[in-house]
Amino acid sequence: MEQYRYAELVDVVISSKMGLNPNRPVHLFGAGHPMILAFATLMGCDLFDSASYAKFAKDDRMMFIDGSFRLAEMQSLDCNCPACRGLTLEALKKTEKNARVRILAMHNLYAIRNELLLVKRYLREGRLWELAEMRCRAHPAMLDGLRRLREYQDYLERFDPISREGAIFYTGIETRGRPVFKRYADRIMSRYIPPTRKAAIFYGESQKPYSRAFPAEFANARRQGYTPVVISPFGPVPAELDEMYPLAQSLFPEIEDNDTTAESEELTLRFLEEKFDETVSGSELPETEPAPEETKVIEPPTGVVARKGEIFTDDPLDIQRALAVARYQFGLEAAEALFRGKIELRKSKKTGKIRNVISDGEHVLSMRAGDGLYTLRIEGAQRILAAVPAPHMRMAVTDDSVPFVSQGRNAMCQFTTACDPDLVPMDEVIVVDKDDRAVATGRMLLVADEIFSMKKGIAVKIRTGSEED
Ligand SMILES: [Zn+2]
Repeated sequence: MEQYRYAELVDVVISSKMGLNPNRPVHLFGAGHPMILAFATLMGCDLFDSASYAKFAKDDRMMFIDGSFRLAEMQSLDCNCPACRGLTLEALKKTEKNARVRILAMHNLYAIRNELLLVKRYLREGRLWELAEMRCRAHPAMLDGLRRLREYQDYLERFDPISREGAIFYTGIETRGRPVFKRYADRIMSRYIPPTRKAAIFYGESQKPYSRAFPAEFANARRQGYTPVVISPFGPVPAELDEMYPLAQSLFPEIEDNDTTAESEELTLRFLEEKFDETVSGSELPETEPAPEETKVIEPPTGVVARKGEIFTDDPLDIQRALAVARYQFGLEAAEALFRGKIELRKSKKTGKIRNVISDGEHVLSMRAGDGLYTLRIEGAQRILAAVPAPHMRMAVTDDSVPFVSQGRNAMCQFTTACDPDLVPMDEVIVVDKDDRAVATGRMLLVADEIFSMKKGIAVKIRTGSEED
């Protein structure tokens, strides 16, 4: 770190993390500069060395978030920490050596502490990528570290939550190295099935979701048998997926950069080639007579009570959207099991957003307004268990814990016997007993490797137990 070899530091840290027990905290020995703390935490380090604050002070050097500076070379002392407050640079320089070292050491400690507090806040908010990307701009060698980290996207993706609160902020081309981009690129290729084999391409990043930005254009394309696809910094976004995390929950600058545009175009070309027989530009399609835009409203399904401000529909466009999200989130086989027979949707009258999916009279899924992804109902879980072989979407628990979990208590690491290794944090999961029967549904808090190395702690936050009233 003293030689600014941050790219190699990434190799060392990630290679170590791959071999270490996730149950153990990781101490990054020698890291004591505030500028590295966010990035090191992002890589999975928990403890830091802090002897540097004193060494730097003895050397008349002050640590700041954007680097270390020699007192003799500084032009001003613009610091408000309790050690510097009220001091001018001249006064500090004239202070007797021992007293000065003490002030500088205190200042350095405050700089470290302030940054650690900030790292904790971003970590809690699920936004650590953003802070680390900002910090890595303090020095080109740190930017090298951030760029090297992208080579470990596969590994990092296994721990990256399927969704988070709040929008993703794009901070520069390195943002595309985040695991969330890779996951989207992988799933759009493997889990998306277009409703037609003809694509109409649209551009435009300013307004989201796209269906609300281009309602007439999309309708015109669909009337002529085209599937609307928007080119975005994530790559291609089929209209059916545009309300889903991370697509609608992301902010990009309006002025694009060449690298992101090139990467997005490359992915889009691959996508169009594989999924479609014909591609046109949406703006070049002839305009056709507008068909009625109103959503078709149906009676509530038998046994389902209509609530205020909601409608029911079996509109094919809405069903396409509902199905595309299910495929993306749960995989093709599971989505097929969930969308069996007669499909009816409960929608918000005001926002037009899908709320519930009712398949053959059973309420199997609920869509969340915030991230446009689903929560899985027990009825839906049972269908997946019947149709898709284990371990897909399952976590198995011991016989002893079945009575508790089926009553809605959280599933604990120490009582877990098996877990789908592809599940990531915040994924919907089906907790099963040893005979693969549904005990509960909930959300993953950890991944399989972590669950099996933890001696205690919550593995799955249970939403509904099978025996709950
Ligand atoms: Zn200070």
